[in-house]
Amino acid sequence: MRHFTIPIFIPMQACPHRCIFCDQHAIAGHSAVPDAIAVKEIIRNHLATLPVDAQIEVGFFGGTFTGLPLARQEKLLHAVQPFVASGDVQSIRLSTRPDMIDDKVLELLLKMKVGTVELGAQSMDEEVLRLSERGHDAACVDRAAHKIKASGLRLGLQMMTGLPGDTPEKTLATAKKFVEMGANDVRIYPAVVVLGTPLADLYMRGEYIPQSLQEAVEQVATLVPIFESAGINIIRLGLHPSAGLLDGSALVAGPFHVSFGELVHTELWRQKLVLIEHPGNCDEVMIYVAASARNAAIGHKAANRRMLETHFKKVRFVADAALKNRDFYVDYR
Ligand code: SF4
Repeated sequence: MRHFTIPIFIPMQACPHRCIFCDQHAIAGHSAVPDAIAVKEIIRNHLATLPVDAQIEVGFFGGTFTGLPLARQEKLLHAVQPFVASGDVQSIRLSTRPDMIDDKVLELLLKMKVGTVELGAQSMDEEVLRLSERGHDAACVDRAAHKIKASGLRLGLQMMTGLPGDTPEKTLATAKKFVEMGANDVRIYPAVVVLGTPLADLYMRGEYIPQSLQEAVEQVATLVPIFESAGINIIRLGLHPSAGLLDGSALVAGPFHVSFGELVHTELWRQKLVLIEHPGNCDEVMIYVAASARNAAIGHKAANRRMLETHFKKVRFVADAALKNRDFYVDYR
C-alpha cells in the first residue's frame, strides 16, 4: 500500500531561539502558522488528490510544534481528529525540539492520537551542539527520546552532517547513539548554508567551510547501512527542495542537491559494483539485482552503468525477484 504524508508547516515562531543554520522561512517557503481552519483545508485539498486506498498521515513539520502554547497545539491537532475518526487519515506525526518534550505535552499528543514524534537532534556531540547554538545538550535529546519511547509513541530522529565542529567520527557516533536510543525513523540532512542565517555570516567570514557534495554523499553513505541493519526506517536523505533552494536564491553554499538521496544510493552501489572483475574473455556483463534496487544500482544519471561500461562493452542490469536490498550476482557473456 502506498504511503503519503500531508505536510503542514509550522514556521519557527515557537523556537526559543535560532539555531545557527536555520532559516525555516527560507527552507519551508511559508511564514504564517496555519490555524485550525487552514489545517482542515490543507488536509481536504490533499485528500482530494490522493488515492482512496492510500495510507495517509498528517505531518506537522518545520518548527517546534510542542513549543506552541498547549491550547494552540490542541486546536491544531483537534482539526485533524475528524479525518482520523473517518479513517481518511491513519496517523499524525510532528517534529519538535528535544527540550520541548515533557509529560503534559506527551499526554496531549497521546490524547490526540499522534503516532510519531520526530526530534531535531542534529548531533549527539556536545561541541557540535554548542557551536550550532542548538540551546540543548546531548543528554536532553537522550531524555526526550526516552520519554517518547516510554509513552508508546514512535520516535523519529533527525541528524545533520557537516555542522561546525563536526567530523566523520562524531557523525558516526551520533548514528550509533540513535540506534541505541531506539529510533524508529531517521532523516539525515547535510548542513547547507542558507541566506540570512548566522551560518552564512560565519561562511562569509571564512570561519565555516561546508562539506563538498561528494564529501556529504560519501559520509551519509557510511550512515545508511548502520540504520538499515538496525531496521530503522530512513525517511529522508537531504533537504526538501524548496523554491529558494531550487532556484538558488536562498542557497549560499553547501552540498544541496535535489536528488541527494539518489546520489547516496548510487554511491552505496558503486562501492559494490566497482569490485566486479573482468574475466578477460567476455563482452557483456549481466548484473542481477532486486527489482526495487535496479534504478539505484544503475545509479543517478546511469553513473554506475557508465563506470562499468569503461570495462565491458555491454552492461545489463536485470531484476531478480529472489534478491533483496543490495544483494546481487553477476553473469558474463
Ligand atoms: S529548532 Fe528547528 S526550527 Fe527552530 S531554529 Fe532550530 S532548526 Fe530552526
